[in-house]
Amino acid sequence: MNMKKYMVLWGGAMFFVVCFSLYLMMETTPGSASLRAVEVGENGLSNIDARIQQIETMLNDNQKMMNLIRKTVQELAAGDHGSLEKLQQVLQMNPTPLSARPPHSVKTRTSDVSLPADTCQLTQLGSSKADIQVLDVYDQLAFDNIDGGAWKQGFPITYSPNKWEKQKLKVFVVPHSHNDPGWLKTFEKYYTDQTRAILNGMVDALERHPQMRFIYAEMSFFSMFWDEINQDKRLRVKKLLQEKRLEIVTGGWVMNDEANAHYFAMLDQMIEGNQWLQQELGVTPVSGWAIDPFGHSPTMAYLLGKMGFQNMLIQRVHYSMKKHLARSTQLEFVWRQSWDHKGSTDILCHLMPFYSYDVPHTCGPDPRVCCQFDFKRLPGGGVSCPWRIPPQVITKSNINERASTLLEQYRQKATLYRNDVVFVPLGDDFRYDKVEEWDNQFDNYQRLFDYMNSKPEWQVEVKFATLSDYFVALRERAGAAPENIPPHYPVLSGDFYTYADRDDHYWSGYFTSRPFYKRLNRVMESHLRGTELLFSQAVVVASRSGAGGFVRDLMKTMVTARRSLALFQHHDGITGTARELVVADYGQKLLSAIQGMKEVMVQSAELLLSIDPKLYTYKADNSFFDVDETRASHDSLPVRTVLQVGTGQSRSVTLYNSLGHARQTVVRLYVSTPHVQLRDPLNNIVPCQVEPFWNEDETVSNTVYKLVFVANVPALGLRSYTLHGMADGERQQGVLAKVDIYNSAHSSLRLDTDGVFTVVRKPSLVGVTLENNDLKVTFSEVTGLMDAVLVKSTGEHVSASMQFVKYGAKHGKERSGAYLFLPDGAAKPLAYNNPIVRVVSGDILSEVHVLLPGVEHIISLHNSPGVDGQTIDVSNTVDIRNENDIELAMRIVTNIENENGEFYTDLNGFQMQKRKTLSKLPLQGNFYPMPAMAYLESDKVRLSILSAQSLGVASLKTGWLEVMQDRRLSHDDNRGLGQGIHDNKRTPNKFSILVEIRKASSTVGPASTVGFPSLMSHLALQELVHHIHVLPARMAGPPTGQRHNFTGLTTQLPCDVHLLNLRTLQSTSQSTHTALLLHRLGVDCGFPTYGVTCQCSSSKVNLAKLFSGVKVQKASSTSLTLTRDGTELSEASQLIDVPPMEIQAYKLQLT
Ligand SMILES: [Zn+2]
Repeated sequence: MNMKKYMVLWGGAMFFVVCFSLYLMMETTPGSASLRAVEVGENGLSNIDARIQQIETMLNDNQKMMNLIRKTVQELAAGDHGSLEKLQQVLQMNPTPLSARPPHSVKTRTSDVSLPADTCQLTQLGSSKADIQVLDVYDQLAFDNIDGGAWKQGFPITYSPNKWEKQKLKVFVVPHSHNDPGWLKTFEKYYTDQTRAILNGMVDALERHPQMRFIYAEMSFFSMFWDEINQDKRLRVKKLLQEKRLEIVTGGWVMNDEANAHYFAMLDQMIEGNQWLQQELGVTPVSGWAIDPFGHSPTMAYLLGKMGFQNMLIQRVHYSMKKHLARSTQLEFVWRQSWDHKGSTDILCHLMPFYSYDVPHTCGPDPRVCCQFDFKRLPGGGVSCPWRIPPQVITKSNINERASTLLEQYRQKATLYRNDVVFVPLGDDFRYDKVEEWDNQFDNYQRLFDYMNSKPEWQVEVKFATLSDYFVALRERAGAAPENIPPHYPVLSGDFYTYADRDDHYWSGYFTSRPFYKRLNRVMESHLRGTELLFSQAVVVASRSGAGGFVRDLMKTMVTARRSLALFQHHDGITGTARELVVADYGQKLLSAIQGMKEVMVQSAELLLSIDPKLYTYKADNSFFDVDETRASHDSLPVRTVLQVGTGQSRSVTLYNSLGHARQTVVRLYVSTPHVQLRDPLNNIVPCQVEPFWNEDETVSNTVYKLVFVANVPALGLRSYTLHGMADGERQQGVLAKVDIYNSAHSSLRLDTDGVFTVVRKPSLVGVTLENNDLKVTFSEVTGLMDAVLVKSTGEHVSASMQFVKYGAKHGKERSGAYLFLPDGAAKPLAYNNPIVRVVSGDILSEVHVLLPGVEHIISLHNSPGVDGQTIDVSNTVDIRNENDIELAMRIVTNIENENGEFYTDLNGFQMQKRKTLSKLPLQGNFYPMPAMAYLESDKVRLSILSAQSLGVASLKTGWLEVMQDRRLSHDDNRGLGQGIHDNKRTPNKFSILVEIRKASSTVGPASTVGFPSLMSHLALQELVHHIHVLPARMAGPPTGQRHNFTGLTTQLPCDVHLLNLRTLQSTSQSTHTALLLHRLGVDCGFPTYGVTCQCSSSKVNLAKLFSGVKVQKASSTSLTLTRDGTELSEASQLIDVPPMEIQAYKLQLT
């Protein structure tokens, strides 16, 4: 190198240093933004002191850097040409900035992002047109529970004697067996004890009796059966399906719960079941069958419709609602989404009229009569009729009386429906497990049918049928083409919560039962989705580079995980209504699935980050990355992996963002030392905060520390950061969090230092606040809990008083249990005095920890430019194992005037439904499921609780919103479980609270039953649920052969388009079939959008150019379970625009 070049370099270096020094001076000028943020108050002096120390440290660091530059330049001058590269590296390093506040501490408010017109129209249009609006019906109903006679919850049914003069009554008797994949026994135990025999018996019985029919729903069991039968039997099953003597209804992996399940998992379990059916049996179901889920959601109706189903059947609906719909012959209706103004989501729905789906409650209104036609209950059969009149074998001598008695029930039932076709299920839980039952039911019924059909004056045609046979006949009679909605059927919109089957027995307990597993389920969901998205891209790269082992092994892990999640969506799984040992079995399956997903995630990340994927070799159980957390067992809390960083060592950590837009968000790493520096891929020092890890109430760990920083991770992307262990002397004082403890168990006013943190003990809870650029949260001096929120942008002061309350259980014969919530009255405040309160504060994250009996409650506020800077985060570690017959709730009492007791809760995380708290309902009838979100609002203010797990929610008084946390009950509630709930765990419940002020300019549409979250609220919920995954390097040292950055998308998705899934279907060496699922969110545009950086002006997505690393060879639109393919999309038509609220599936061939 010649001298001239050297001088240029030296000059450049000096110029840089001078400029930087000027910048430092600007930063520290009194009155500058970052200093203004330091409040001079009670803590002002210590803050200034800390800041001076900080400045000293940083000047010291910068001096070191100057020395390094000088030394390198000297080496260069001495002819060490290798030093040129070194100098360039040094110059790339950012000197330590003077402020420990992140560079974004002063935010320039960008104007609100603008959303497409069709998105914003949704709110203004209000709810769609419907003949029956369930919420209005709730206003009308008396909920008086009058005894209806034989049909207790209904009314005496009469009809005119010449009703069937003109056309025959058609009766469809449909044999079925309801198989729970886990309840009193585990999934596997049910299979070996009962389901295997049922399905084997089915094949034989249907062959033995050509007129017999059967419907079956649960593919989890069916696939197990299929795997163990021989080729001959498989052909016999296929023949029965082709001849339509056997019908698969719904064909989901399970019959999913519709209250607690999230739409991602509902859809995924349907894909798993329907894909299996299509591939193995060549069958695609057309009719939905949900006889046992405890209440029904329109989300299921939406999903079934978009999957291409034509019909659906539901059963568990509030008895008053059933009675109302029965009176007006509206038990069959067209179910419409309340946001769908075009009716494009309509699906025909049949609601069963009576108490249950068993034989006594399905032939007609009188269970005493119907029970006599359950021929499993013939004397000596082991089961009897509770009404004490047993069935009789049908003989010549009794057939006339028996047939007319049964026909009378059919006729009465038929009058509740239109069109003179009547549907009669014939089955119960785990029925048809013995040959005799098949034969007894068939023989006796066939005799009755033949007899009835032979009497022309009876005007009836009765036969065994499948569910779809019934719907075909209904359409025929109603004059509709096979695929069309019958004309003149009433349109209904709304949902069927909260279910009550009798008296005040509201099934609102299961919204909360076993919250530990409800949370574990969501953790699993987020892992599955995150892994699917990475794996589907990695599969293509692996196929290209010939890493076949990768695809083969990991695909198996994916399928197992999908099936474990699917299994848990069963209506006794996520509901928390199974026996203890079954709950543990589900838990074990979820835990293995989470571990499996972590393995696939790290392997996929390693492959995608490889500079040359050909050099990547797949090694099972040995990846470059470690997992970020472990769980000792399915019922223990996760333990984060502590990253060991020795002095002078470095360790890389890769962050994974599974969302379709780039994120700036606060991330926590657990590290072995507080003396650590974090650098981004450009080698810039990342501002960090070191927080203590609490060993006990007041003791901090000296081996584990939390490193908190604002991460930037690209859309569907990976980004590597590096931790550097520093010597003690180099430690950065300013980054340590401040720790104050109030109401200490020790003598007050003490000051401890553990060598790292200074812990100040204070006598009374005065002036505890958390504050960032946008919010100020104040805390009660009495309870230590949140009291009020100031929204700085508008100056709006919202009173929001946090409370913990507990409900007791009613005494007597009928008690709260896994299903039912039967409280002994209003909730009482949780009793406690002077709780220990810890305040941990810093520039990036500040927290208030309140240690209450039964719950460790943490409120945190992020100083983040992202959406996470807009929410108040709540973490409750609930432990009520010391008490009995208690239900713990977190209540927020606000000054928000929500009119008429109206509030909103989500349905399956997919849509919002308006609720009304009604005094005519008992307290437990005013609780609703909250899988993801609830809000209440006035004209001006909306307060939302976003939830990372499904729990029960209510708004019992104006301004109140309360969320159940856990329930512990010593008694069974007489719904068959035979157990209370005593297997409570330490349960981590997580929430975000969002306080939003409606823009003055925004208009709200007409009175509507449908609501929409704001964009900020959607994105904050995604932050909460799809957290950034941390992939730490297993070994210290810099990674070799790896890139620091990966993004799966060429451009970010629009803000209101959610990347729901990218799911590998099957794989060959040439190409991979992948399902892309996009969900366009429904947004209320009336709120500001702080922290939102994604683009929203257009919602269009270009499929052809969507992915950066893989190419879309072919794309076609398809139904949501990917079974009914639409037309292939030309490259030009791959610019797609999903309508607001809708989910759209595409089948892609990726290369
Ligand atoms: Zn069931």
